[in-house]
Amino acid sequence: QLSNRLRTVAQYIPKGSKIADIGSDHAYLPCYAVKQGIAKEAIAGEVVEGPFQSALAQVKADKLEDKISVRKGNGLSVLTDDEVDVITIAGMGGTLIASILEEGSDRLGGVKRLILQPNISSISIRLWLRENGWALINEEIIEEDEKIYEILIAEKGDINRGYDDLEEGLLLGPYLLLEKSAVFIKKWKHERKNWERIISQIQAAKSSNENIKKIVALQKKIAIVGGVLS
Ligand code: SAM
Repeated sequence: QLSNRLRTVAQYIPKGSKIADIGSDHAYLPCYAVKQGIAKEAIAGEVVEGPFQSALAQVKADKLEDKISVRKGNGLSVLTDDEVDVITIAGMGGTLIASILEEGSDRLGGVKRLILQPNISSISIRLWLRENGWALINEEIIEEDEKIYEILIAEKGDINRGYDDLEEGLLLGPYLLLEKSAVFIKKWKHERKNWERIISQIQAAKSSNENIKKIVALQKKIAIVGGVLS
């Protein structure tokens, strides 16, 4: 059974797409998407030998070698131009996902949709999308095995789509903010507590300009979250 996290990613793949799943590990997502008849073909990209071998083995076990091409390489370098309609990147930090997109931006010409599931730092992805002409079209927040995950869906278009207050939206997610689900509230209450703890730790350490800057930045985030949760 595929995780709820990856099933949520799969829900946003338009039927009949050709997808590339970058950092695919066991290739569970492309195997599921093809078996379910969601994707017609897929590429599973992996940079590390062990997970690359796991992907090959899974595709073979599922007898999907004719539909799923498993490729070893860094980020989007495994793709040639206009090969896929949809790119999925899941289970990594937001800064890594943004750097994979940035480094591979010359391979995004034919891509219609990005489905991105950062484990942390969604803000890095929202910033990258805005700087590169991608509109955020939807977001999901889910909890599974006591971890909270966000899924961001983007298509080429108006970078302001969905945003009302930009600062709030970049940090918390414009669509997630509208919904303010129980999981969303839980996540940001937890983050706020964590920031408050970090501030007390910094305050207990030696005072320096660097530390003051860190405290100011955290206080700013606490104020944004406070305004939304109240
Ligand atoms: N996408 C799967 C998921 O969500 O369950 C696997 C997530 S796993 C934690 C992250 C995978 O990304 C690892 O297998 C790692 O080797 C791979 N990875 C990290 N950086 C990569 C890059 N630049 N290019 C391709 N794969 C990468």
